[in-house]
Amino acid sequence: MKDIKRAVEAAEAEMIRYRRSFHRYPELGWTEFRTSSLIAEALEAMGYDVRVGQAIYGEAERMGIPDAAILEKAYQRALETGGSEVYMKEMKGGYTGVVATYQLGSGPNVAFRFDIDALSILESDDVGHAPNQLGFASETTGLMHACGHDAHAAIGLGTAKIIMEMKDELKGIGEIRLIFQPAEEGVRGAKAMTESGALDGIQYAVAAHIMGDLPLGLLICGAGGFMATHKLDVTFTGQPSHAGAAPSDGKSAMLAACTAVMNLNAIPRHKRGMSRINVGRLEAGTDRNVIAEKAFLKIETRGEDTEVDAYMGLYAERIIAGAALMHDVDFTIEPVGAAICAKSSAALTERIEQSARKLGCFDQVLPQSEKAIGSEDFTFMMDAVTRSGGQAAYFLVGAGGNRGHHTRTFDLSEKAMIQSAELFSELLLDLSAERQPV
Ligand SMILES: [Zn+2]
Repeated sequence: MKDIKRAVEAAEAEMIRYRRSFHRYPELGWTEFRTSSLIAEALEAMGYDVRVGQAIYGEAERMGIPDAAILEKAYQRALETGGSEVYMKEMKGGYTGVVATYQLGSGPNVAFRFDIDALSILESDDVGHAPNQLGFASETTGLMHACGHDAHAAIGLGTAKIIMEMKDELKGIGEIRLIFQPAEEGVRGAKAMTESGALDGIQYAVAAHIMGDLPLGLLICGAGGFMATHKLDVTFTGQPSHAGAAPSDGKSAMLAACTAVMNLNAIPRHKRGMSRINVGRLEAGTDRNVIAEKAFLKIETRGEDTEVDAYMGLYAERIIAGAALMHDVDFTIEPVGAAICAKSSAALTERIEQSARKLGCFDQVLPQSEKAIGSEDFTFMMDAVTRSGGQAAYFLVGAGGNRGHHTRTFDLSEKAMIQSAELFSELLLDLSAERQPV
């Protein structure tokens, strides 16, 4: 027990330094060039085998990739702000993320997943906001780590360091695999990584989320579940014409889009459970006297389980096709993100609980929560591992009390970050001890 505390203490300052550096230079999904390259560099220096770029993705298709100009601009910015070019050049085209492995001994193979992307949010300039007070607020106007993934990346690096410090006590583990996943926001990164085999051969997979809206010292050992979701970009293409002289020669993409929006919100409920649909963006047309040629919608569906979400998605597709038929326009539907449902394994959640109680660093330790919370694409990884007979879990660590995620003043207590790395490490010790003769 003493050893783990010592190893955690030795990793603390570095974790805080990394978290603040990532916070200062936030990067959106699939553009985490600086973040990924610094993570890769640090892990390689610790002795891990590191994979980046297309070595991670294989043939699998990635969803929701930004266009080439955005990727290039982000790449240049990463170079200017201290990204490591050796690794970055492998990531061109948005192949961000890192997978690091180390063979500890023999026993179950364990994967920990950490997400690393930021959001399109303008960080608050309030002087009371800690990143302003301590000088690590976002240097990129309009981008911000407002969900704590800066801390998740730092937890991953801290855990990596603690594991190396304690590797002699981890001989009961086969391979440890640390997965730094890009593009969790918009649920885009996990599916491609999973389909490319990032979880192959893994018996235990664990991820966590820092919760700014739960009090520091609170641990929820297993998320009760996540809503399944689909993110779709829809484009209607019609025919422009003069709105006064020849309205009947035109085919209005805008009318099709409006028909779709109204009817999407009228999808009948599903008997199996709750569902959601939202059209969050509608752009259409060019000018007052022109029949609109183009219309563009950003849509998401959600469901309490994968079947309910699939029902919402299928219904939405029919409505879009029907609206296009009504107004005689063409349409395309592009999937740009997805997550499925998954529940934490009860057995693994219990072990997380035992590990937390043994550590004694949390004030309140709660078992698996009842309610499904938001959506999270780690569910693809959970599903892959449980399908092949393994166990997966997701724990939540309180880090503040009233700091809303995805807001301009989001912040977190860095102590929660240290506690999380400690818990990941203790869990690994626990899994290792199981296989070792005592
Ligand atoms: Zn998040």
